[in-house]
Amino acid sequence: MISVIKIVEDTTVDGPGFRTTVYAAGCPNACPGCHNPQSWDIEAGTLMTTEEIMQVIRADEFADVTFSGGDPMFQPEGFAELAEAVKRETGKNIWCYTGYKFERLRHDRRQAELLQYIDVLVDGPYVESLRDRDVLFRGSRNQRLIDVQASLREGEVVLYAQ
Ligand code: SF4
Repeated sequence: MISVIKIVEDTTVDGPGFRTTVYAAGCPNACPGCHNPQSWDIEAGTLMTTEEIMQVIRADEFADVTFSGGDPMFQPEGFAELAEAVKRETGKNIWCYTGYKFERLRHDRRQAELLQYIDVLVDGPYVESLRDRDVLFRGSRNQRLIDVQASLREGEVVLYAQ
């Protein structure tokens, strides 16, 4: 089960092309200036099963998938199960937004399991003083677009080539 704030279909701001974005409830990062503080409380969401979310994802054959929030890495088991189903059933590309940094996630057993299924990770907290409207798909300049599969293979961060 995943506590979900909302699911938005055909968004174009959470990665390239049209995407179905699943917004997780729950975030421990408390970034000053966060655009979505109402998502911090995990109790603010609605519990959904993998199958319930997959029905929405399957319905749009041409949209890829983004996990956002809140912070999906705060519910790593539920999102790992969902990501596995997305890959197994549809092969869709998955982007994931998180306030954690890649270097920390890969050393946490539960979060590293979710990383196995992610194509691009947008990592790091939102930093108000580094806010920049010109950085693609991010809120502040410190956040990175990471090619997760290449990074796991290389053992170090490989940036996503846009
Ligand atoms: S990680 Fe995202 S949702 Fe969480 S506090 Fe920071 S900006 Fe807000």
